[in-house]
Amino acid sequence: MLINLHTHLEGRIRPATAAELAAHAGLPGGKDWRRALQLHKPGDLSVYLEKVAASYPFFGSVDNLSRISCEAVEDAAADGADYLELRFGPATHVRPGMDISAVLRAVCAGVAEGTLRSGMPAGVVVAALRHHDWDTNIAVARAAASQAGAGVVGFDLAGDELRYPRIEPYVSTFAVAKAAGLGLTCHAAEAAPAEAARDAVNLLGVTRVGHGTHIAHDADTMRWAADTGLIIEICPTSNFFTGAIAHRSQHPVNAFREAGIPIVLGDDNPIQTQSTLSQEQRILEHTFGFGPADLQHLDRTSVRAMFAEESVKEFLRIRL
Ligand SMILES: [Zn+2]
Repeated sequence: MLINLHTHLEGRIRPATAAELAAHAGLPGGKDWRRALQLHKPGDLSVYLEKVAASYPFFGSVDNLSRISCEAVEDAAADGADYLELRFGPATHVRPGMDISAVLRAVCAGVAEGTLRSGMPAGVVVAALRHHDWDTNIAVARAAASQAGAGVVGFDLAGDELRYPRIEPYVSTFAVAKAAGLGLTCHAAEAAPAEAARDAVNLLGVTRVGHGTHIAHDADTMRWAADTGLIIEICPTSNFFTGAIAHRSQHPVNAFREAGIPIVLGDDNPIQTQSTLSQEQRILEHTFGFGPADLQHLDRTSVRAMFAEESVKEFLRIRL
């Protein structure tokens, strides 16, 4: 199976759609959008996120949001995925006449259409962003809560952990999402030290952490993560491009496994990294020695960890 539990809407826009929408918006024509959106060498998290932000102009209308979301689901299904959790920060895409709720409804409608067309179940994970102010993030959490059970399955904290490492400012935001019954995750210990993962669990109440690469640098936090049952969403190629690891082969996936820490897989921003989930799975096989039993274990962990409603989990358990 192929279950994607960490991927961003802004990292999945089709280059052909970008070209079409650019022409429509009167942006300079003839640009190679595959190349323009793609990362060419590793940098740090800030450089990586600037590249992701190059896609933002394409999300400026309800129709565009729905179309890009629908195509993201179709493309994941075409890559072989059995389930997709698609995350994004709706406040980024607010425009005059299109508020946070309108943005979120457009994406949920696009994801539902993509599921209808592809037959692959998918859910939306709404992200608060580290650089947004408290009022904005609370509004995002309330919009997410109002769409719980209507497409939204989870809540996340994303953005630049290098520039905004503190977790405390988002405690009340996550309380709103938690009260609505949403699954909780947080990008943590990707650019900040291992301790950030503990803060995400202890202060925000998350059950999953995105990336978590630096957890491997601290033996105490490794033991704590294993004892807690914290699930780490790993994205090896993304971590290479953000500079969290010096080379893909240095990803600590096997250190996590040996420590008894459950892992699930994501492709983060495949348009920017040029590596989809099926390729990330091949990296697990060829670089980290995953055999059929290891992949089966990954599938079982993924079904347990996903924020989907029980009927979707049951559907996938039957297929396991
Ligand atoms: Zn991410």
